[in-house]
Amino acid sequence: MDLTSLITRCETKLGEAGVASPRVDAELIISHVLKIPRRELYLDPHLKPGKSQVEEIERMVDRRARRVPLQVIVGTCEFMGIEFKIEKGVFIPRPETEVLVETIVEACKPLRSSPVILDIGTGSGVIAISLAHLLRLSRVVATDISPLAVKLARENAIINGVGDVVTFVIGDALEFFKPGSEFFDVCVCNPPYVRSDEIRLLEPEVRDYDPVIAIDGGGDGLRFFDRIIPQIASVLKRGGLVAFEIGFDQAQEVKMMLEEGGFGEVSVIKDLAGRNRVLMGKRL
Ligand code: SAM
Ligand code: GLN
Repeated sequence: MDLTSLITRCETKLGEAGVASPRVDAELIISHVLKIPRRELYLDPHLKPGKSQVEEIERMVDRRARRVPLQVIVGTCEFMGIEFKIEKGVFIPRPETEVLVETIVEACKPLRSSPVILDIGTGSGVIAISLAHLLRLSRVVATDISPLAVKLARENAIINGVGDVVTFVIGDALEFFKPGSEFFDVCVCNPPYVRSDEIRLLEPEVRDYDPVIAIDGGGDGLRFFDRIIPQIASVLKRGGLVAFEIGFDQAQEVKMMLEEGGFGEVSVIKDLAGRNRVLMGKRL
């Protein structure tokens, strides 16, 4: 079978299964198995996958049709142009979170000395590692309550050459840190923020694969913010920055929580779809 009809066949199967971007996912699975970049799939009209490659592609497409996330199937994902290892049991990074990273990169560019950054709930490590990389940081601390996440994040830091820059801590929120230590210049967090009763409404890839603890923000979705804002205030230097990813409808409430917690100059940043996605503020 030639490549174009293979791509179309896979696309149809994924489309029928309700996968959101069937063509892209078909191309990504095929390029993964053939070990060629996706953009090169259409360059060589004579490219013909071997029998065992077609079988492997079909096995992966079948899994994807059963709504296993693409990143779990191929074992990697790209975030800020960097490749990360992904494993079942750890939150799969989202493209929206790149807005959070870009916001911090822009805010830190004018600084004369290298800021010390804390990433709370680091998951696979994408935020901490891409910041270390993009800002050429000398010190980042990343925490998560999940030992599985910290193990994967540590591997990702080593793979991406920042293993000696990022220090990982397994712990519940910021319980580990001495209150009042005022150590960090920037605190960043993509917390669990989905309302508990809305989790069952999410796509199967999210509902069945992201750990509940990674997305469950309690009855109002704001439980984690409520807990960590005072903790952040006690480990962040005066004038230091806090940046959160938020749900599209949470900007007003989280802004108020920040202002009540001793933060000011709070700004809201939108994602590519035009929804409120990031909040940044300064410790007064
Ligand atoms: N930072 C990663 C990203 O953006 O892809 C992961 C974000 S995920 C939405 C939230 C993360 O917070 C999960 O990795 C979860 O394990 C972690 N988490 C949940 N509750 C926590 C707690 N009490 N203390 C520390 N981390 C927690
Ligand atoms: N963006 C995720 C979702 O709705 C939620 C991430 C989070 O809770 N931080 O699928």
